[in-house]
Order: sequence, then C-alpha cells, then structure tokens
Amino acid sequence: MEKKPFVTLKQVEEIVKTYPTPFHIYDEKGFRENARLLKKAFAWNKGFHEYFAVKATPNPYLLKILKEEGIGVDCSSYTELALSDKVGYKGHDIMFSSNVTPEEDFKYASDLDAIINFDDITLLDFYDKIAPFHDTMCCRFNPGGNFAIHNQIMDTPRDAKYGMTKDQMKDAFNYMKKKGVKHFGIHAFLASNTIADEYYPKLSRILFKLAVELKRECDVHIAFVNLSGGVGIPYKPEDRKTDIMAIGEGVRKAYEEILVPEGMDDLAIYTELGRYMMGPYGALITKAIHEKHIYKEYIGVDACAANLMRPAMYGAYHHITVLGKEGKARDHVYDVTGGLCENNDKFAIDRSLPKIDMGDYLFIHDTGAHGFSMGYNYNGKLRSAELLLHEDGSVQQIRRAETVDDYFATLDFSGLK
Ligand SMILES: *Cc1c(COP(=O)(O)O)cnc(C)c1O
Repeated sequence: MEKKPFVTLKQVEEIVKTYPTPFHIYDEKGFRENARLLKKAFAWNKGFHEYFAVKATPNPYLLKILKEEGIGVDCSSYTELALSDKVGYKGHDIMFSSNVTPEEDFKYASDLDAIINFDDITLLDFYDKIAPFHDTMCCRFNPGGNFAIHNQIMDTPRDAKYGMTKDQMKDAFNYMKKKGVKHFGIHAFLASNTIADEYYPKLSRILFKLAVELKRECDVHIAFVNLSGGVGIPYKPEDRKTDIMAIGEGVRKAYEEILVPEGMDDLAIYTELGRYMMGPYGALITKAIHEKHIYKEYIGVDACAANLMRPAMYGAYHHITVLGKEGKARDHVYDVTGGLCENNDKFAIDRSLPKIDMGDYLFIHDTGAHGFSMGYNYNGKLRSAELLLHEDGSVQQIRRAETVDDYFATLDFSGLK
C-alpha cells in the first residue's frame, strides 16, 4: 500500500511562502485521533495512563495538545522536566524514567512530585541523600537473556544497560518499604519499534507475574505496571500497522489470567509511548536543490542528517513521496542526500522514485518521533523550524529555525581581542 502524505503540493507551496524549507510539520488531527484510539484500547483498565516520551518530540505546543487529550509525560532529564513544567504538567502526570541520573534531576523530579522510576538499586542510597521517598515510586526491571516472540529474538535485555535483576527488584522494594513508600510500580522496556501485536501482551505477562511475586514476597501494594514504549509504526509501505485494539485486548487477557485471581484488579496499566504517539504524524519537508550524475544518481536536498538522524545512525528507512508526483511511476533510482561532509548523510539509498526535478518538494514520512529531537549542529548545520498543521488546515510555526546567532550563542568572541 502506498503511503499517503498528510499535506499536498499545493499546501506546501503556500506554506513555503512564509516558512522556507526545510521544516518538520505535524498533523494535529492525526495525532489527536491516535491518542483517543490508544485510550479506547485500554479503556477496560480503570487507571490506564499514557505518559508520552518527551524525548521523541520535545515541543511544548505538541505537549499541550497531548495534555488536552489526557496524556501525561515521561521525562528522563532536567531539561525535559523543565519543559513539561512550563506546559503545566505536575505530580503524577509526570513519570521520571531516567538512568545515570544526576542529583539535580532527582531533586527536580521530587519537587514536581513526579513518579520516580529507579533504574538501579544503587540509586536508592544516592536518592536518599537528595530528596524524600514519596508514597508512590517505581523500579525498572531487566529480565536478562533474550526477548523473543514466537522464537524470534526481538532484542537482548542481557546486553542492555537498563533496569535491575529480579533479586535487586526485591531488595529495592524492601528498602523503599522501610522508607515509607506505600504504592509500587514496575517498569520495563525490552524491545523497540515492535510491529508484532504480541509485544505488549508478552511483556505484560512477564511483569504481571513479577508483580504477583513481589507482592507476595515483599508484602507491598503494586499500584501499576508501566509497559513503557516500544510499540512500532510502519515505516515501510509493506510494513504492517500495529492493531492497538488487539494489543489492548492481549494485555487485558494477561491481566485477567494473572492478576485478577490474585485480587490485584486495582492495578493500573501505564504506557510511555513515543514513536507510536507521534511518529506517523510528522514529516520533514525538503527541497531538491542539486542533482549529480557520477557512478550513481544523486539528488541533493536542503535538509541533512542534522535534521533527521535516523537513516545515518541506524540505517533506518524513511519513505519519500515527491509531492505532486504521487501517481507517477517510480522509474528512477536515486540516493537522496544532504550536504554534510559524511557519506552516511543519505535519506535514501538506491531508492526507486519518480523523476525528480530541481525545486521539487520531498515529503519524508514518519519523522514525528525521534526526528527533529535527535538534531545536531555538525558542519555548522542549523536545526529547522517545526510547524503545526491544525485541524482547520491552518499552519502555525511552533519553533522557528535556528540562525547563525543561535549557533554562536554559547561563544564569547570578545575573548579573541
Ligand atoms: C525512548 C523511551 C520511550 C519511548 O520509546 P518509543 O520507542 O518511542 O515508544 C519510553 N520510555 C523510555 C524510558 C524511553 O527511554
């Protein structure tokens, strides 16, 4: 199935009169509807709450809309806490899932009354010297080994730096119980960008069983299980779209089999989705500015890996639509590149596309999560603007493009004199 852009060439031609390319643009209608669907999928669970992973798309205008939809935030740094604070997030609407955490980050999270999710048992003594233990606190679990679905290895938790062993989880809960903690949460993130609907159900079985064990052995109230992020999106046209209703139903089955018989039916399900919430609802719009014919055919565009790092960093696929040429045959093969002095600065390699002419606008799909946010300034390249396409079709700039002065902002040239 062909992937359909959420803006037309006509709209983009209108937008660039005010905001030149490159820019990321987000589709409000799309991500609002998607947020509602997620809540519907877990409506069977009274305490269900999604904490959007701020790192995926840290823009206050987008966070504000998610807040209107009843979505919380998952932060992992001081700055992400400060951003969420500015949007008006506080208390249990913030999950603080950090690792290798500095003192001031814990202090801030505690001051905001966020739910703190400890990555490691050694952090408990560290935290104890900084801030008080709250009524509700969480620990991150790492089961080790491989994580497989249908014998297919999805990821290797034993190689991941995150979380605690089962024995450490028990010790941590006993420690926190002595410190007066009353309600406990269990968190784990075992595989990323999973397209199989079985990921959350399988993870929830592991965590629900652990919840039963910890409740019995530590005699504590397990208030929630946080399934974290990891639900994937179809980057490629042939990828299947996850069925969030089926995922919600799979988790419900595990809940009824494992928790209900133990009388643990007040346990809330939390999620910390980033990619699933925003990925498909953002795009990078860039213009073809050069072509080059050597041993391969190249199209040079005005964006580069500094605006979207995933292809360079992970070899990730991002689908490209040449706007205005949607129906045309993909009868040319190109590498689509940015201008960094790095040969991995390629948005597409050997990609079949319609003939691209200079001045064509390319719609690079699925940049709504881990897109703009992974931007950087290598080669003195500047971060682009972020735009928001509202439900009524109007466009608002929600972050301006960087200027050379922004790049210089941390330098004091007077020292050269
Ligand atoms: C990155 C991250 C997420 C979000 O992951 P997605 O793959 O975007 O869903 C959630 N929780 C934690 C702790 C993370 O580090």
